[in-house]
Amino acid sequence: MTALAELSCPTADSAFSAGDVAALPAVLPVVGSDTLVPLVDGRSVPYANLDVAASAPALRSVADRVTEVLPLYASVHRGAGYLSQVSTALYEAARRTVGSFVGAREDDVTVVTRNTTDSLNLLAGCVPANPDGTPGRVLVLDVEHHANLLPWQRSGGATVLAGGVSVAETLSGLRAELARFDYALLAVTGASNVTGESLPVADVVRIAHDAGARVVLDGAQLVPHRGFSLAETGVDYVAFSGHKTYAPFGAGALVGRRDWLDAGTPYLAGGGAVRQVRVDGTDWQPAPARHEAGSPNVVGAVALAAACDALAGLDPAALHAHEATLRAALVAGLSALDGVQVVSVWPDAVDPVGVVTFSVTGHDPGLVAAYLSAEHGIGVRDGRFCAHPLLARLGYDEGAIRASVGVGTSGAEVVRLVDAVRAYVEEGPQVRYAVVDGCWTVVDDPRPVPAGSGLEGLFATAAAGFLADAAGCGPAD
Ligand code: PLP
Repeated sequence: MTALAELSCPTADSAFSAGDVAALPAVLPVVGSDTLVPLVDGRSVPYANLDVAASAPALRSVADRVTEVLPLYASVHRGAGYLSQVSTALYEAARRTVGSFVGAREDDVTVVTRNTTDSLNLLAGCVPANPDGTPGRVLVLDVEHHANLLPWQRSGGATVLAGGVSVAETLSGLRAELARFDYALLAVTGASNVTGESLPVADVVRIAHDAGARVVLDGAQLVPHRGFSLAETGVDYVAFSGHKTYAPFGAGALVGRRDWLDAGTPYLAGGGAVRQVRVDGTDWQPAPARHEAGSPNVVGAVALAAACDALAGLDPAALHAHEATLRAALVAGLSALDGVQVVSVWPDAVDPVGVVTFSVTGHDPGLVAAYLSAEHGIGVRDGRFCAHPLLARLGYDEGAIRASVGVGTSGAEVVRLVDAVRAYVEEGPQVRYAVVDGCWTVVDDPRPVPAGSGLEGLFATAAAGFLADAAGCGPAD
């Protein structure tokens, strides 16, 4: 086996042998890495989960931690019982761990949310209004995931700027736009969920702060894959999701400057967020309680903290080498195939995370994704990745295919994907596919419903429709 340390940090152009990549092990064990899935030819193979950017599998250590704390679980914050107090302590300790994982400054607040979407919607209610009472201005690029676009559009203060064809052009576009108006906030991705590429954070922060604007980083794709620190970068807020950080138990976080969060509109109105309620009005708590009305997700927060601990315990260089090697193998392997294009928004971006989007000329992305699942047991994402403006600008209105990797991904899985796409390009699919309700499915799909899934009583086989139901596909989202 190739030791991780022996691999340098390759770029897409660097040479490495396919044998090295195939032997690269996962960095951390994840739940489900040995789950077998059926193929249309009757065989079963281990599932190759190359859709980590959408939702990452739970780390084994996270699942163990959840099992450990469940017997201690009880009501939080208002319970007098012993276990209520233990649960409250676990929740508040998790909050501190999550905050320090992203380098929170002393006076920063960590709000436990559901996910990145929730975090950014929360912050949108906290951007101070302009002196004339109009919504505070927020500048955002058209490269963003909808979670970092729609909350600002809905708040009424958003300007959406087209990104440039290079990092340098995009930064100068941002600089020029920030000089035109008094922006309160620049909302920017930490890493694109389409290409894994990003703008240099230090430059973004300098440009925004010079213009008097704060910066919120959409950390959904960055935080699980790279060390990130609010204190070191000067970023004002960061949002991220537990289910992309190997802790799929329903918690996410918004971490950042206290003043806006203390003064902003309470995100949810209800118990726990208030100091005093009268029939004619309410005094709200400061953050974080202000934004966490209702019973909090203790188990989700503990799971997220456990994931943060596990990732923080890794050697950053080894983590980086693993992901960079897998990404480089994907880019090199896929771009070498006839008719396959790898998508890039900023070709000069430095150090993209492990997300690679590609298309096969003349082939519907949904068909390629269905083939990879049915004939190879590989899970990828197809569609427009909740980034419609970017896909439209890049000419991918019909969508594309995305492979993404993480700490639980092995080199063998990446090699399997490249080989499977090669077989598709050279020989085409081996069974018939048809679009049913807008979704590519195998005609007369023989794959059984997984035993023990609880779906057995509902569907006889995949042909009976459970895969299409589960895919919920329609116009590529
Ligand atoms: N931002 C980016 C860059 C993403 O990739 C995603 C999800 O794919 C989101 C935001 C939204 O994350 P969530 O669905 O966890 O709210």
